[in-house]
Amino acid sequence: MPRTSVAAVARAQGAPVELVEILVPDPGPGEVVVRVQACGVCRTDLHYRDGLIGSDFPYLLGHEAAGIVAAVGDGVTEVAVGDYVILNWRAVCGRCRACRRGRPWYCFDTHHASGRMTIASGPDAGQALSPALGIGAFTEYTLVAAGQCTTVNPAAPPTVAGLVGCGLAAGLGAALNTAGVSRGDSVAVIGCGAVGGAAIAGARLAGATTVIAVSRSAHKLALATDLGATATVNSTESDVVQAVRTLTGGFGADIVIDAAGTPETWRQAFYARDLAGTVVLVGLPAPGARIPELPLGDVFGRGGALKASWYGDCLPSRDFPMFIDLYLQGRLPLDMFVSETIAPADLNAAFDRLAAGAVLRSVVTFD
Ligand SMILES: [Zn+2]
Ligand SMILES: [Zn+2]
Repeated sequence: MPRTSVAAVARAQGAPVELVEILVPDPGPGEVVVRVQACGVCRTDLHYRDGLIGSDFPYLLGHEAAGIVAAVGDGVTEVAVGDYVILNWRAVCGRCRACRRGRPWYCFDTHHASGRMTIASGPDAGQALSPALGIGAFTEYTLVAAGQCTTVNPAAPPTVAGLVGCGLAAGLGAALNTAGVSRGDSVAVIGCGAVGGAAIAGARLAGATTVIAVSRSAHKLALATDLGATATVNSTESDVVQAVRTLTGGFGADIVIDAAGTPETWRQAFYARDLAGTVVLVGLPAPGARIPELPLGDVFGRGGALKASWYGDCLPSRDFPMFIDLYLQGRLPLDMFVSETIAPADLNAAFDRLAAGAVLRSVVTFD
């Protein structure tokens, strides 16, 4: 029997999110219904609401979620009813050219559930919802592909675990997987929201001895220090490139992670890095943003690597249980990213706080 579920839906571009009753179908082959316990409020949800990602309204928002498997469809072997899982938005296919070469974290054919959740009643009853990032988790129940579920240690609270499914995976993975931070490295992170903050925590975990946080916000820089930054640069007060060079013996950082994703911050990252250093772009650029004009001689002469990080190059089945275990061992302060827990009805106000930079993450709870 389909389940009814109260869900946060963006019906039209820029309109406030509404709570509506939806129908969640029984899982088809390879699909799973998850009872959502907690779901973080991410900037990507805000971008969906504002029409910056697509125009397939109505959107079912929410994608940083953890919960309990409530039902499984035919052929599901990855998880069972009762499992505690983190949802991911890159279920790997196992068959594409990246997967076949043993690099499933790059999978070029990730998938979601094919069944559709629909609006339950009212004038648009039966209308199919577009789930944000193929998840849609600001709802008591959601339908996903089995490969979007990763079982983790249930000792971790869902408010923390859910965030691992998007922002924290991106930031931790940018440092650990894409950049490959190692002991003794100097790392600068530009942008200190949840993704940048997680990159700082990841750099510290990997043994970087200099971790420089760069932000326009004194409040975010204070949080970054708590997460492991050894120095801070307020970009409204200092020239970022000069400041990072000064903090690294005049040379620049071995690795600069751009968690803001603007032409200006990417250019800062390019020049704030030491010779043969690495730039990692993990912040999602706005549509139409362009790489600033650079002398090709500088690209060659400075050497090193210019990389982009998809989802932190994380493989959920490999990385999510590890991040949770490290958190439970006290080696990753993931609970610091939970700024507040809120009810679904508070979502619109939480979006405003996120846009204002007042929180790392508000987390909607459903218990
Ligand atoms: Zn694949
Ligand atoms: Zn997200």
